Amino acid sequence: MQLNSTQLGQVDAQIKRLIKTDSYYGKMYREMGITGVSSNEDFQKIPFSSKADLRNAYPLGIQAVPDEEVVRIHSSSGTTGKPVIIPYTAKDVDDWATMFARCYETAGITKKDRIHITPGYGLWTAGIGFQAGCEKLGAMAIPMGPGNTDKQLQMMMDLESTVICATSSYALLLSEEINKRGIKDKIKLKKGVIGSERWSDKMRKTIKENLGIELYDIYGLTEIYGPGIGINCESQHGMHYWDDYIYIEIINPVTGEPVPDGEEGEIVITTLVKEGAPLIRFRTHDMSRIIPGECPCGRKYPRLDIIQGRSDDMFKIHGVNMFPSQVEEILGSIDGVSSEYNINLAHDDEKNKDVILVTAEAEGRVNFDKTAVTIKEAFKSRIGVTPKITVVPVGTLPRSEKKAKRVFDHRQQ
Ligand code: ZN
Repeated sequence: MQLNSTQLGQVDAQIKRLIKTDSYYGKMYREMGITGVSSNEDFQKIPFSSKADLRNAYPLGIQAVPDEEVVRIHSSSGTTGKPVIIPYTAKDVDDWATMFARCYETAGITKKDRIHITPGYGLWTAGIGFQAGCEKLGAMAIPMGPGNTDKQLQMMMDLESTVICATSSYALLLSEEINKRGIKDKIKLKKGVIGSERWSDKMRKTIKENLGIELYDIYGLTEIYGPGIGINCESQHGMHYWDDYIYIEIINPVTGEPVPDGEEGEIVITTLVKEGAPLIRFRTHDMSRIIPGECPCGRKYPRLDIIQGRSDDMFKIHGVNMFPSQVEEILGSIDGVSSEYNINLAHDDEKNKDVILVTAEAEGRVNFDKTAVTIKEAFKSRIGVTPKITVVPVGTLPRSEKKAKRVFDHRQQ
């Protein structure tokens, strides 16, 4: 999908403004002789921006407006090294809330809803984004933040929350708890807005069944406003994203070349109207694809497929590239196995080969030994890798309130 003329003009204006500043990208573009863009070809020549740039610019090197225009910062913590700081102007904060309110509306949420917000409040963009969007929409925000399951469920019953906002793993935990406590008839939830980490169909089905609600995937990342730049509609066929605020291209993560619409690759985002910290061609490492054609719902906003994984989550075992989504597909096809799992990769020094250990959860009604054999055979036949399998009872593996880490690589890099 190419930039249209409005978007090109917006990118051009952002670059022209950036190069007048001493911000990180202002200096970089000046040094590279970039003066603006007037065509898609020009645009393709702008180098990618990355989280590594933002770390180099720590703390406020990326800031592209005078201090007096910055009203807030957010931060995303990396797993390694320095965090990333993103400054926002009043307009950025307002634009983000507008996009987020549009997400709620797209999910059929209205002013009459009561929105139970469990993502955390603080430096990161989670809770406050859900909150600002809710207030912009005019619905009632119930700003819970994460943790304290007893209190979550009590408030959910007493306040008759109609919408739950959560990560997929926390929604799963709460849904399991509601089931276990037999309080489903006291819960008034109708919809769930779930942070867009990749989650399996099985997990979706479990949450849906436990709670009897419709689920919506919301997309976003701190570097580009935060959650709220896209969400799926009632057609449940991909996520609409707001192309009046962001431009998305999909690239081959290895070569950096753009791939045709419909083909899977890495999502690269360009902000169109951001003031505090504009980003041109930011590599997200999220893997997805543009869904070509019009959505049955009639909305004109383009669509991204649900996130398939992260290009940096890919791991290599016995020379085979694997994504966690493949593991999920396999486990999802086996009777009695839950959506939770973890993978440990290690090197067997004696035999000088890599070993893969998969821990999966199964329901008490199935035979664990037989299930382990079934899982092992499925891995062997579908990806040509033979893992060691441990089957444990459902509920054994940790449920995380944040994005769950499931692959642990203990091999020396
Ligand atoms: Zn739609």
